[in-house]
Amino acid sequence: MAITHNLGFPRIGKNRELKFELEKFWREETSKEDLQHTAQTLRKTHWNLQKQLDWLPVGDFSLYDHVLDTSALVGNLPERVSQEQDDLAKYFQVARGQSHSHCQQVAAGEMTKWFDTNYHYIVPEFDANTTFSLHAENLISQVKEAKALGHNIKPVILGPVTYLWLGKTKDGSNKLDLLDGLLATYELLLLALQEEGVEWVQIDEPILVTELDSSWTHALKQAYLALNKSPIKLLLTSYFGELKENLHFACELPVAGLHIDAINGFNEIDQVVDWLPSHKVLSLGVINGRNIWINDLNKTLAWLTPLQQRLQDRLWLAPSCSLLHVPVDLDSEQNLDEDIQSWLAFAVQKLDELNILATALNQGKDAVAEELVINELAIKSRQQSNRVHNPLIKTRVAGINDAMAQRKSSYQQRAAIQRQRFNLPLFPTTTIGSFPQTAEIRQARKQYRLGQLDEQQYQTFLKNQINHDIEQQEALGLDVLVHGEAERNDMVEYFGEQLDGYTFSQFGWVQSYGSRCVKPPIIFGDISRPQAMTVEWATYAQSLSSKPVKGMLTGPVTILNWSFVRDDQPRSQTCLQLALAIRDEVLDLEEAGINIIQIDEAALREGLPLRQSQWHTYLDWAVNSFKLTANGVQDETQIHTHMCYSEFNDIIQAIADMDADVITIETSRSDMELLDVFNEFNYPNEIGPGVYDIHTPNIPTIEQIVELINKAAERIPAERLWINPDCGLKTRRWEEVKPALAAMVTASKVLRSNSAAA
Ligand code: GLN
Ligand code: ZN
Repeated sequence: MAITHNLGFPRIGKNRELKFELEKFWREETSKEDLQHTAQTLRKTHWNLQKQLDWLPVGDFSLYDHVLDTSALVGNLPERVSQEQDDLAKYFQVARGQSHSHCQQVAAGEMTKWFDTNYHYIVPEFDANTTFSLHAENLISQVKEAKALGHNIKPVILGPVTYLWLGKTKDGSNKLDLLDGLLATYELLLLALQEEGVEWVQIDEPILVTELDSSWTHALKQAYLALNKSPIKLLLTSYFGELKENLHFACELPVAGLHIDAINGFNEIDQVVDWLPSHKVLSLGVINGRNIWINDLNKTLAWLTPLQQRLQDRLWLAPSCSLLHVPVDLDSEQNLDEDIQSWLAFAVQKLDELNILATALNQGKDAVAEELVINELAIKSRQQSNRVHNPLIKTRVAGINDAMAQRKSSYQQRAAIQRQRFNLPLFPTTTIGSFPQTAEIRQARKQYRLGQLDEQQYQTFLKNQINHDIEQQEALGLDVLVHGEAERNDMVEYFGEQLDGYTFSQFGWVQSYGSRCVKPPIIFGDISRPQAMTVEWATYAQSLSSKPVKGMLTGPVTILNWSFVRDDQPRSQTCLQLALAIRDEVLDLEEAGINIIQIDEAALREGLPLRQSQWHTYLDWAVNSFKLTANGVQDETQIHTHMCYSEFNDIIQAIADMDADVITIETSRSDMELLDVFNEFNYPNEIGPGVYDIHTPNIPTIEQIVELINKAAERIPAERLWINPDCGLKTRRWEEVKPALAAMVTASKVLRSNSAAA
């Protein structure tokens, strides 16, 4: 019998109930009891949706983040949280600096991306004196809750070694020195679960798919030797990739079962089956937990059937990873095209697929004959649909050649031409694109969407907004202006909506962090651009000023990384299609007289594979796609790009290879320390290190900006420096933006006169 289970279910609720309840709680509009009640109701609903499974996850639910839950579980909340408050208040204080609007504020825990996903976790904090103690009340009460509802459950916990790996030491001590103490706490935890009658525990060690040095593999051995003393059976769980060099080692760790990602690690399945000792269970993650496409069930069954014959009762089936990364229920969708809807599966549908597979294996295909036929028809319709496949685009992609991705001349030659053309001062000032998205702007967009504003009225509104933004920038004295992006709700969705090959869900929310969710647009088919997307706004803005106005686009890699991407062709192919569509837009802007064009690649870095050995393959096609987008222009046209981070020490060569004339990056918070990379690496083109931290309401002073730029000028020649904020200004208010930009402009004048005097 193949056994079914789930690694984790989305927590936020199909109508984002948890989000709304949390935000109410933080605003003090609801009580702790109400919040706990909502959480309990959601868990109950989610278990009900999973009840056909043999084992249901418990402990996968979280009020904010499961890594923070683990910190609370092992008694490792930072000491700065105020002790005179209840556990929940402490928890939220770490998560977001404060528990509710009126309570004391402390520094929130740092947040970072969970492996290669768009989910962010709260980074555990350690120092040499960190001790651990068990606080399992929360988990145990959820175990009791599920059992009281009659469910067969399998608690889910984050493994001790991954927990340490994800954290940061504040004092430079070695995290692994803390392992013994942590293991003692995990042993107590297993004991507590044993007392609840728990038989299996899923223990997640996703670091098994990363490159581990021997101290970490040693830690894993030590951990599982220690935890193996418990009579509880451990399902050691890895996901998000292949085990590769860790494969033999993972198979041999002393646990009762191993879960592997059979989507990303498909080529390793046979090896794992060969290596796994015969007393161990093998759980195969056969349903993709990272995308929203249906599984080809007949194809999956074809390779699973012989495996089941080999493994018999040792075979478990699950999604590849937690379903946290997909929306809850496709049945909520009312507006999707019928064909496209039949190609999609959200969390609930993915679990249905799992059950169909298990039934087919356990009772024979006839038991699910109808389901298999429906699946086969949907798969065929997707494969053959002319909405997916556009031969013209495939031909165009096949015709891409190297020359298309190269500028006509070198940066030095271009820079000379551009200097003449734009006649910009030293230390030119600019912004990253968006201006404050006021309540008025959001209101107008909403009214337009609801049909309360007609096309004409909405256009007039946007033009007035552009008038306003240009006036403000002229008054401030900025050198290179922008139109302000008032028409854009989101830098990816805005383009997706105008491209063919994209569709949008109504309720396809995925948790990004805490109560924040994103609704990634869905790329289902070959991408094309039916008409120009931004030219009208850019040319209108340019008509209002004698200063250059930048055209503003989102780059192909960022569009790709922030969408649900089709799985029937390599990501690199989809990226090339996006690149061609945005390239056409670049050329249209140039043709329309827009001479400076910015192509944002905010998400280029986050597409990096988990293993460094695979970075170059990704960077090759990602950089090539950017170049294909940008580099069709004449030497006179200045290409800018923007990236929302500054840790690019390890990818600096790739960024230089993009060959943008100007790059703007985020740096202000790091005090330009992150520019250290330019001590060794001679960045060849122009660069605007951010001098205004737009993540806080703080206004930088003239002196601070001058000091930052002077630091930057120690590494990059002044002629190649720009002055700009860290990122777009859409989340800020005009009252903050005006003085901050005024300080920037004054600082640039100070710098110019200093350098003239020197
Ligand atoms: N041009 C965009 C803006 O200014 C860039 C946003 C981003 O990089 N995240 O909002
Ligand atoms: Zn940015």
